[in-house]
Formats: sequence, C-alpha cells, structure tokens
Amino acid sequence: MALSPCATLRCLLMSIFRFAPSPNGYLHLGHALSALMNFELARAAGGRLLLRIEDIDTARCRPAYENAIYEDLAWLGISWEQPVRRQSEHLDEYAAALKRLANAGLIYPSFETRGEILRLVAERDALGPWPRDPDGTPLYPGAAKNLSPEERERRMARGPYALRLDTETALLRTRPLGWHETGSGNEEIQAHPEQWGDVVLARKDTPTSYHLSVVVDDALQGITHVVRGRDLFAATSIHRLLQVLLDLPSPTYHHHRLVLDAQGRKLAKSTGATSLRRLRDGGAKPADIRRLVGLA
Ligand code: GLU
Repeated sequence: MALSPCATLRCLLMSIFRFAPSPNGYLHLGHALSALMNFELARAAGGRLLLRIEDIDTARCRPAYENAIYEDLAWLGISWEQPVRRQSEHLDEYAAALKRLANAGLIYPSFETRGEILRLVAERDALGPWPRDPDGTPLYPGAAKNLSPEERERRMARGPYALRLDTETALLRTRPLGWHETGSGNEEIQAHPEQWGDVVLARKDTPTSYHLSVVVDDALQGITHVVRGRDLFAATSIHRLLQVLLDLPSPTYHHHRLVLDAQGRKLAKSTGATSLRRLRDGGAKPADIRRLVGLA
C-alpha cells in the first residue's frame, strides 16, 4: 500500500536514536545512563530506538556478552526495535565505503609493527613532543604515504598492513566542518579531524574499524540523534570528516556526562564492580540504577 504524503513526511521527520554497545564485557553504570537517555529521549520525541551490536572486534566480543546486553537492557525496562543490527553481519557494506574512499585516493597502507611505531615516536619525541590524538595515542609517525604503488603492492602481498585515511588530503577537499551539539546547550561545534592524524580505517584481516562502521551504520539506519558519552566527543570530528567524504548526512550529537568511579575515573568494562549484573545480583533494582547514574 502506498503511503500518504502525510505519513511519508511524518516518517521523514521522525527522530531515530540508537544505543550501540560492544559485546566485549558486561554493561556497567555508564552504559545504563546512555541506554536510559536514548530510550527516554526517543520516547519524549515520539521517535524510535534502535539497538546496534558493535561486534567487529572478533577477538574480544563474545555471544555471552551480547545475550547479557539484551537481558540487562530489558531488566532496566528498555525496549528497542527488531531486528538488531550486528556489525559483524555487514562487513561488505563497510568494505564498499572503504573502497569508495580508496577510489578517491584517500587511503594508503602502512606496514610498521606496533614496536616500530613506538620506536619512531620515541625518535620524534627526542626532537620535541610528537603530537598525540585526543585519546593520547601518538599520531602515525611513519612515511608509508610516500611509497610507490609498486612497493605498496609488493608489501601488501607479503604481510599484514593497516589502511589509513590520508587526513591531510581529505581536509584539502572539504570545507571547515562542524556539528550540532546538544550535550551542553545548543551549539555548533567546530570539528578538528587533523587532531587524529591518519587514522586506521581497516586492516588486512579486518575490513573496517570503529570510526568507519559507526558512520556507515548511523547513515544506513537513518539515525537522526546520536546520544553517547562525552568520551566520544572528540571522535565526532573524524566521524564528520568521513560523513562528508562519503556523502552521508550528519545526525545531531548529544555527548552526555560520564559516570565516574570513586576515584573520579571513567568506568571500564574490565573492573566489573559497577556491572549491572553484579549490582543486580547484589539486590539492586532498576530504580536504584537510575538513582546511581543520577537520573530522577
Ligand atoms: N560501541 C561504542 C562503545 O561501546 C559506542 C559507539 C557510539 O556510540 O558511537 O563504546
């Protein structure tokens, strides 16, 4: 049945939120805050909530953690649309986006091991501080961008490699970038993708990365509002650059406060102490979780 123009318009204007955890550990209080905010903002907007399982890191993701995500979210009283998108089932879509960037001459392979990169960074640091990205990782210090096409082919056939975005060239082709941020009021934020250097977008054995798959998925799923922790604020700069290079729309971003531990540190999945499971096993109720994360 054809949709009436009015219904089509409603659909176009509908707000679509997503919660996108990685199944590499149990959800903790920080995830609870994010998931509850997405759920409640979607409801308040009369919109939709999608759940996306970000499971491209096959070495660390486990089906048991994925099942725990469903259980913990349902226990909190959150509901989401089916089917759930699992990134591991969409690798060809990320590969197509990567190919598009490669065809535009914006991707190059690099071959240094982690140890070689550390050594190069130490050499650069000896001459004056080598720049770090917003997460504290040194920018790529190598010279792989300058290898000849023949040399690239030869080395790619021989061993592992990372596929990097040529950020400098990409920025020459784009206008200044920014995004609309509602995490602390309503403001236009200027993006600074150059702070990330030549980020890795894929590897020989993994055809994607967090940055690439998140922008492809947000666009494919029609996400209009990205609500996530403040720890991903700086990454939005690189996401905006990829969106423009791939002709993808920009959602509105809301980076919320983080839930911190007693020492004022960001919660980590590995510590377990604030995992929703542990709290629930200790007798906590969903209302206690809301209180612990500072929701009324
Ligand atoms: N998968 C990411 C995480 O668990 C979240 C990505 C996002 O919200 O953009 O931290």
